[in-house]
Amino acid sequence: MSSRPSERLRRTFGLRLAVWYAALFATGAIVLAGLTYLLVARSLTDRDHQIIRSTLIRYATQYEQGGLNALNAAIRTDALTGRHEPLFVRVLGPNEEAVFYSMPADWLDFDPASLPAPPPGTTSSWTMVPARHGTTELEIDSARLDDGTLFQVGKSTESRDEILQRFRAVLAIGLVAMLALGLTGGAVLTRSALTPIRQLIDAVRSIIQTGQLRARVPAEAAGDAIDELGGLFNGMLDRIETLIDGMRGSLDNVAHDLRTPMMRLRGTAEVALQSGDAEACREALAGCIEESEQVLAMLDTLMDISEAETGVMKLQQEPVRVGDLFADTVDLYADVAEEKGVALSADTGCDLHVQADRNRMRQVLANLVDNAVKYTPAGGQVTLTAAPDAARVRLTVRDTGPGIPPHDLDRIFDRLYRGDASRSERGLGLGLSLVRAIVRAHDGTVEVHSEPGRGAEFVVSLPAPSTSNP
Ligand code: ADP
Repeated sequence: MSSRPSERLRRTFGLRLAVWYAALFATGAIVLAGLTYLLVARSLTDRDHQIIRSTLIRYATQYEQGGLNALNAAIRTDALTGRHEPLFVRVLGPNEEAVFYSMPADWLDFDPASLPAPPPGTTSSWTMVPARHGTTELEIDSARLDDGTLFQVGKSTESRDEILQRFRAVLAIGLVAMLALGLTGGAVLTRSALTPIRQLIDAVRSIIQTGQLRARVPAEAAGDAIDELGGLFNGMLDRIETLIDGMRGSLDNVAHDLRTPMMRLRGTAEVALQSGDAEACREALAGCIEESEQVLAMLDTLMDISEAETGVMKLQQEPVRVGDLFADTVDLYADVAEEKGVALSADTGCDLHVQADRNRMRQVLANLVDNAVKYTPAGGQVTLTAAPDAARVRLTVRDTGPGIPPHDLDRIFDRLYRGDASRSERGLGLGLSLVRAIVRAHDGTVEVHSEPGRGAEFVVSLPAPSTSNP
C-alpha cells in the first residue's frame, strides 16, 4: 500500500534533514575535539622537553663545576625534593667511555645499549628510544661539553601517554554523547520545521478529497516565512470560497430571475397561438421582443459586472472633467425628470478632474441618477455635486426621495437585489452592482447614506489624475 505524501515527506526529507544536521554537528564536534587533543598533546610534550632541557643544563653546569660528586648531589637533591620525576642521566667521556649512568629502576624496559651517541661535533640533539615492549619511548636530549664530554638527560613518555590516553577516552565519550545529541536535535528540529508543511498538505488533501473549501492551516503567531505562507494560503482559500459562493449565488439568482420573463414569453406566445387571430399574434410577437430585450439587457449587465469584478473590463482611463460628466448625465435624464416633476440639477461648471474611463463613468452616473429620479416622487429634487478629497474626488448624487430602509443598506449592492418598496418600479436589481463593480475597477469606492423618509445620498470616490498628468 502506498504511504500518504505527508508521511513520505517526513520519512525521506525529514530523515535527510536529520542526518545532515547530525553529520554537521558530529563533524564540528570531531574537529573541535581533534584540535583540543592536539593542543593538549603539544603542551604536554613542550612541558616535558622543557624539564629535560633545563635539567640537562643544570646537571651539566654542576658537573663542570664540581665533577661527579656535584652531579650526584644534584640528582639526590632533586629526588629528595621531588622537583620532577626521576630522569635518565648518562655522561660519556670524550672517547665515548661511560663516566656516569643513572636510570630509574622502573624504566628497565629501555635498553641503554641501544642509545645512540650523537655523532662527534654535534653540540645538542634530541633522540627517541623505543621501549622493548609497548609504545612508550625515552626522549633524550644530548649536549656535548667543551672538553668533549657528552651529557645526556632523558625522560620516559609513559606518564604523558597515560594522561593522553585518559583524555582520548573522555573525548570519545563526549563525542558519542554529542552524536546522540545531534541525532535527537536533528529529529526534533526536523519534526517541528516540517509540521507547518504537513498541515498545509493535510489541508490541500482534505480540500481535494471532500471538495469542500473549509479546511484551513492552523494559524501560528511565530511570524516567520512559513507562517506567512500559511496565512496567505488561508487568505487565498477565503477569497476562492467567497468567489465561489458569489458565483453560486449569482447563478441561482440569474436562474430564478430568468424564469419569470421566460415563462411570460412562453405564456404570451401560447395565448396568441391559441387565439389564431393575426392581430393578437402580432401584438404577442411585439411583447416577446420586448421581453427578450429585457433578458438580453440583464445578461449584458451581468457580463459587464463580472468583467469589471474579475479585472477583464477594458478601461480607457484618462483625466475626465467632472462638469462634463454631470452635463452629459443631465442631458440624458432632463426629459424623464421633467416628465416626472423632479428637479434635476448638477454642478456642470465643476472644473475638478477624475482619472477614469469616460463612458464607464457616464454609465455609473446614469445608473445613480436613474434610480434617484425613479424613486423620488414628483416635487422632489435630485442634485449632483463634486468635491476634492486629498488625491481623490468625491461625486455625490443626492435625492429627496423615500430613502432606503436600514436593513436594505447592506444588500442593495448585491446582484439582482431589489428593495421591497421598489418592486412596482421597472428595474433588474443590477444597477448598483454594476456601479460598484465599475467604481472598484477604477480603484474607487462607493458609499450610500440614507435614512428612511429623508432621501438617499450615493458618494463615489475616484482617484484624481496625478499632477504630472492633469
Ligand atoms: P433596481 O433599481 O433595478 O431595483 P438597483 O441595483 O439599481 O436595482 O437598486 C437596488 C435597490 O436599491 C433598489 O431596488 C432600491 O430598493 C434601492 N435604491 C437604489 N437607489 C435608490 C434611491 N435613490 N432611493 C431609494 N432606494 C434606492
